[in-house]
Amino acid sequence: MPNYSPNGVRQLPPHANEPIRSYAPGSPERVSLQARLKAMEAECPEIPVVVGGKEIRTGEVAKAHSPHKHGHVTATYHKATAADVHAAIKASRAAWNEWSEWSWEERAAVFLKAADLLAGPWRDTINASTMLGQSKTVFQSEIDAACEMVDFWRFNVAFAQDLYGEQPISAPGMWNQLEYRALEGFVYAVSPFNFTAIGGNLAGAPALMGNTILWKPATTAILSGWNTLRVLQEAGMPAGVINFLPGDAAMISGIALNDPALAGVHFTGSTGVFNSMWSTIGKNMANYRSYPRIVGETGGKDFMLAHPSADVQAFAVGVVRGGFEYQGQKCSACSRIYVPKSLWPEVRDRIVAMIKDIRMGDVNDFRNFMGAVIDQKAFDRIAGYLADARKNASVIAGGGTDGSVGWFVEPTLIETKDPAYKLMCEEIFGPVVTAYVYDDDKWSETLDIVDRTSPYALTGAVFAQDRDAVREAHARLRHAAGNFYVNDKCTGAVVGQQPFGGARGSGTNDKAGSKLNLLRWVSARTIKETFVPPHDYRYPFMG
Ligand code: NAD
Repeated sequence: MPNYSPNGVRQLPPHANEPIRSYAPGSPERVSLQARLKAMEAECPEIPVVVGGKEIRTGEVAKAHSPHKHGHVTATYHKATAADVHAAIKASRAAWNEWSEWSWEERAAVFLKAADLLAGPWRDTINASTMLGQSKTVFQSEIDAACEMVDFWRFNVAFAQDLYGEQPISAPGMWNQLEYRALEGFVYAVSPFNFTAIGGNLAGAPALMGNTILWKPATTAILSGWNTLRVLQEAGMPAGVINFLPGDAAMISGIALNDPALAGVHFTGSTGVFNSMWSTIGKNMANYRSYPRIVGETGGKDFMLAHPSADVQAFAVGVVRGGFEYQGQKCSACSRIYVPKSLWPEVRDRIVAMIKDIRMGDVNDFRNFMGAVIDQKAFDRIAGYLADARKNASVIAGGGTDGSVGWFVEPTLIETKDPAYKLMCEEIFGPVVTAYVYDDDKWSETLDIVDRTSPYALTGAVFAQDRDAVREAHARLRHAAGNFYVNDKCTGAVVGQQPFGGARGSGTNDKAGSKLNLLRWVSARTIKETFVPPHDYRYPFMG
């Protein structure tokens, strides 16, 4: 290809958050999605490994299931072999030579087109994949797989333009410039099951900045991961820029993290897995050609705290939506609450009434507020926490499980007298909220308990009408959450509005969906050109 470098300071098309469709009864989007769900339930695609643009069927095949109907197979997928991983590293290097030299606007065009494809002709497919494969209700799927992924792709382009626009000043007689190069090597993107959009961003954000990628999707979200890749392919992503490697995480990581060309890791998932990847990288430091950029957004133990001045109904609704939507499987999900004694009876009764009202079941039935948890491993882990609560705390509502047809766990409210009880500290990743009731006059002490109770610091919320209480919570909980909410639930961050991520055990806090994240995927080169260089080595002071 001739090197194409058009003249012109190009303006981006305007961008705004993708509007969320309602899927209300009788709406055209509901009719269209329901038809797609029906069609896709009858399909069972065979998903290949993709390396250098070539589909590889390794013959080592596994099945993906619908969590709410685990007898139903949504797809089969081929697992990458060690040879495929090595081939992907080679393919990423070959693609890098061209892709990293494309003008950034040309790369941006691929993502802008992908966003429009996803918002339009692919919307039903990506939503149906996420509903059937990950058991999201239509609303949870729409805000993730459709709107958030579209937002990531559109907003990142604008953030990239902003970043590239950051240039140094120049003194007279010279021109100083910053060039934002791609990293030298490949980026290893490893995505979790719980957000389709995260896969599109973990692979997409470094690719936008000129990098080439090995993407290991979660196999519990393989159908939506595969369709994400197909959208990018249709948008014109060149072969080898994103190599798709479903399969054995430990084997794939073993090869990727040991390769001298590893330039970065873009991870979202549990803290333990991220820590193990970081240790492997640490042990290999002498082998890498550059210092790998390590970006990881990990676990959470997210809190909601009510002050005695709180709006009780708003708090209770926040807990129910924040704690039980997507079955509590959001990294931001509310999982511990702190309520003053004076408000507890009312808060408790309102949450219990809502729990009794919640419908849970097959996400094809749009009346359901909840589906199933992702797989048997998650189901068993959550059941273990519920068994512990029956012994060591009080189960106020819910607490039941039924794994006969799908992996269903009831929305559950637990009360404990011990603020350090393990259900107040550990990430459960299920629809379980544990409450600690504090004395009204112990507000300040409770803030300190909230801050030190768990190793995580992802999201948190305070509900109060009293402005001084809000100010005190801001100050004392400054490091307790990377996303902090006042009189709002602790979930539901929107790209461009609430850049997302936490510190402490919750990750490197590089804020997905912001310029801060893109900064990690470039290596700046400073260029100084002097127009008329000196011809005399001597300085005037020497006269
Ligand atoms: P997980 O850690 O089990 O898996 C995440 C990814 O890592 C998957 O692709 C998995 O296959 C891979 N993996 C597993 N073992 C590996 C290994 N040894 N080496 C390399 N990769 C390996 O997490 P999950 O269950 O998919 O997702 C839930 C977790 O993700 C929760 O802890 C949640 O808090 C976290 N999460 C965090 C954020 C955030 O922004 N902070 C967002 C979403 C999810």
